[in-house]
Amino acid sequence: MTDTDVAVIGAGFGGLGAAIRMRQKGLTDFVVFDKAEEIGGTWRDNTYPGCACDVPSHLYSYSFALNPKWTDTFSGQREIWDYLLRCVDRYKVRPHLRLGHLIEEMSWEEAAQRWVITTSQGVYRARVVILATGPLSEPATPDIPGLESFTGTVFHSARWRHDHDLSGRQVAVIGTGASAIQFVPQIQPVVGKLRLFQRTPPWVMPRRSRRVSKAEHAIYRYVPGAQRLMRSLLYWAREGQGIGFFHPRINRMGQRIAELHLRSQVKDPVLRAKLTPSYVMGCKRVLLSNDYLPSLTKDNVDVITSGIVRVTPNGVVTADGVEHPADTIILGTGFRVTDMPVMHHVRGREGQTLAQAWTPTMRAYLGTTVAGFPNLFFLLGPNTGLGHTSVVLMMESQLRQVLKALEYMRRTGVTAIEPTPQAQQRDSAEVDRKMAGTVWATGGCNSWYLDSTGRNSTLWPGFATTFRLRLRRFRPHDYQSVGAHRELINQ
Ligand code: NAP
Repeated sequence: MTDTDVAVIGAGFGGLGAAIRMRQKGLTDFVVFDKAEEIGGTWRDNTYPGCACDVPSHLYSYSFALNPKWTDTFSGQREIWDYLLRCVDRYKVRPHLRLGHLIEEMSWEEAAQRWVITTSQGVYRARVVILATGPLSEPATPDIPGLESFTGTVFHSARWRHDHDLSGRQVAVIGTGASAIQFVPQIQPVVGKLRLFQRTPPWVMPRRSRRVSKAEHAIYRYVPGAQRLMRSLLYWAREGQGIGFFHPRINRMGQRIAELHLRSQVKDPVLRAKLTPSYVMGCKRVLLSNDYLPSLTKDNVDVITSGIVRVTPNGVVTADGVEHPADTIILGTGFRVTDMPVMHHVRGREGQTLAQAWTPTMRAYLGTTVAGFPNLFFLLGPNTGLGHTSVVLMMESQLRQVLKALEYMRRTGVTAIEPTPQAQQRDSAEVDRKMAGTVWATGGCNSWYLDSTGRNSTLWPGFATTFRLRLRRFRPHDYQSVGAHRELINQ
């Protein structure tokens, strides 16, 4: 058994951010586990053609590690991954990494006041765990009858098969979310036939990305504060866009732009009708693309809206009885966000798993801690997602809270903390109350933001600034100590 003070689980944006911030605070007794052999999380795994971020580069990076070299206003996957790799070296995180360590089981040992973490490469013991496994890490495979009988090649967009040449192939793409709209225009010119199985059309807005000029690079590099100023401008512009999500009437103006975008890019009225959503824009994630809709107008593309009934060895059968031939099926079907596998492997104070504690719905205190799970901190936990700006901002707010909690424990000598059920209940009720008026609740769609109970347990129903302000202070009275030093907390 190896002892460590803090164990971080996940070496993606969140876990690496935690490692960097700890090092900056002078904390060195920590390790970062990842099941993969390299860091990067979602930006390592999603290598599909055209993969890029739809949040501006200056905002989709750590505030404490600005990058003056972004080549595009919206970065591509490889560039973001490279950025993370550079951060690992620059902040000396590599010695802390424990790659190739799959977390098999993790349980709180009350007597020792420690987490016991069983990994594929041995058992570790930690006082504190920061769970940064990310909501978009486990691909969701749809439960379509017969999928296993398909004799061609099937893969998920997050596990792209670069060894499978798509030239001239009969390709069925299932899903029309943020991932599909990026890879469909890339593969369309290459494949023989592309059949796009669309269950719900997305709203697509113009993508205003451009290359960053040499002059801009020089300004960011040599003019003090220039990049911070740009980041602030983007931050407030994006916060402004948030208003539409919280007051859906305002969003209708944005929806008009998306309608014009569709009208200008798709002339065929039959195809356009298929591609026109029936819900208010913003209810599902708003997608940005200039080439997705035009790619659907090409001769080798069919947009199929009749529901999928089953998969046969040679194709996909839809509700209208037609069998659509395919030799390749690409699943652009998203991720297991409200049913993350890790939930089944984490056991709290009374032996209950996170999955049990989160049945029927995920609830947390400030999206960061959960009653019954001492010294466990989540990055991008329940209700911390955003529709309008960068989740890196949320993650950094949480990191501030975690560091404050660690400092509080050090100062008071408390061995373990967890939120009181009352504080968690109060916080969660407030989230639900605010959510009620948002486009996610009233927009008339069924999105992956909602869990099986229909509750939105993934998004934060407010501005990033509000979240930041709420997490600025550590409130001891919302926490209880577990174990030896309860009286300190109640003082
Ligand atoms: P997604 O948004 O969850 O989209 C999944 C798609 O698959 C939807 O169109 C869904 O249809 C469809 N689908 C799922 N199960 C199906 C089934 N059984 N039969 C037919 N269709 C089915 O997944 P994603 O596109 O991978 O994106 C997930 C999230 O990742 C995004 O929302 C975003 O937060 C992030 N992301 C961001 C970027 C970016 O920054 N540019 C890029 C990629 C991903 P319904 O709509 O009807 O459910």
